[in-house]
Amino acid sequence: MSLRFLNTYSREVEDFIPLDPAGKAVKMYTCGPTVYNHAHIGNFRCYTFEDLLQRHLQARGYEVDRVMNLTDVDDKTIRGCRAEGIPLNQFTARYKQAFFDDAKTLRLLQAASYPAATEPENIARMIEMIARLLDLGIAYQAEDRSVYFRIARFADYGKLAHLNLEELRPSGRIRSDEYDKESIGDFALWKAWDEADGDVAWEAPWGRGRPGWHIECSAMATRLLGDEIDLHCGGVDNIFPHHEAEIAQSECCTGRKFVRYWLHNAHLLVEGQKMSKSLGNFFTLRDLLDKGYTGREIRYVLLTVHYRLPLNFTFAGLDSARSALGRIDEWIERLAEHAGAVAPEPTPLSEHREHFFAALDDDLNSAGAMGHFFDLVRESNRALDQNALTQAQSSQLVADWQRMNEVLALEPDSEVIPGDVLALVNAREAARRAKDWAKSDQLREEIAELGWAVKDTKEGPKLTRLQRHA
Ligand code: AMP
Ligand code: ZN
Repeated sequence: MSLRFLNTYSREVEDFIPLDPAGKAVKMYTCGPTVYNHAHIGNFRCYTFEDLLQRHLQARGYEVDRVMNLTDVDDKTIRGCRAEGIPLNQFTARYKQAFFDDAKTLRLLQAASYPAATEPENIARMIEMIARLLDLGIAYQAEDRSVYFRIARFADYGKLAHLNLEELRPSGRIRSDEYDKESIGDFALWKAWDEADGDVAWEAPWGRGRPGWHIECSAMATRLLGDEIDLHCGGVDNIFPHHEAEIAQSECCTGRKFVRYWLHNAHLLVEGQKMSKSLGNFFTLRDLLDKGYTGREIRYVLLTVHYRLPLNFTFAGLDSARSALGRIDEWIERLAEHAGAVAPEPTPLSEHREHFFAALDDDLNSAGAMGHFFDLVRESNRALDQNALTQAQSSQLVADWQRMNEVLALEPDSEVIPGDVLALVNAREAARRAKDWAKSDQLREEIAELGWAVKDTKEGPKLTRLQRHA
């Protein structure tokens, strides 16, 4: 069975057939962050879904060429750099780095490239595309000197969002002379310089200014991936106008169908409410790390809800992620111990692995896939309890886990135990050898305060991260 995706464009589940005649190479474009602050976990829901998509495509043998852009010029980045009195690129460099650090914490695969809007070759491509749209009479320069896309010239405008174009036309309530644009739905391709832009500007044949956000993505996607691409993703809030505009600009310039499959993730909510700064329920990844949660736990929460369903983020959810991961760790440790160095032999339990991947084939049903995975955990634990697994079968199940984990990336942190924790553990061992139980208990508490639980086993002390509450 091939992969199937719900295509936002058709609203139908479609078989995935890449453009590549050999059916191997896949071109994927993902709208990246606007680098004016730390991305919030809602943004990371989007990037984690895209990571799962890339990993599953790779697991199914596709070669994925993925581009993720960085929006490093817009109103917010300009406002930010001017407020701090530093150059735009110095301001955005900080948040680009923060984004890459966070992506690493969440174990997101790297894209093949991360073009930034302000790179000269990208600006040049934007200018080239706008010039073409002006030549074709699809774009026009308004009295405010900005250049706009005339949506009336693109018959398919509104198709992605399934919008009625009439709704975008000025109604009687709006005086059209308040607008420089011909139509209220026309969007800016190039924004003429004004004072609020300071020294952020580029020269174009039609005057000084800066590109609009939508043309940035059309230019970078077509420059790096070609006129036609297989997959384009983002959050649902990007469908309109951003992705609608990307289609209009790209297809008018190239005369080709821009994207074959559009995939959009639903939003992340916090404790049932929309995440917003004003409600005080706005979390960056760092906020959660500061509360003692790990990237792995946050990844688990973001991964395990189907990407098309709203994800209600709660601290209780993070705590259950911690216990679910604890279960996985115990299971895999137990299997590996049982398997020893014996070579794998087939076991009927491996069918859960097949079901796991089949669920992902079905529009990336990660919740279903996790259901099959936990069936495997439960049944193989039972089989181990009943001595019903051979070592070779356990070895096969370890291999199955490794394959599933190429998509999940949920292996334990190679828990680098901090030096101060290690020193306390060693001191506690010395106290235990001296049978100083009071001291040993006190040290156990000190270790707990640093976020670690110590368990005494035959092989010596074992450390695990402690569950900590918000
Ligand atoms: P932005 O930096 O605002 O352009 O957002 C980057 C990506 O995150 C876009 O694809 C958005 O659609 C997505 N996004 C923004 N907010 C949320 C949210 N609360 N839940 C899920 N995705 C989001
Ligand atoms: Zn975009």
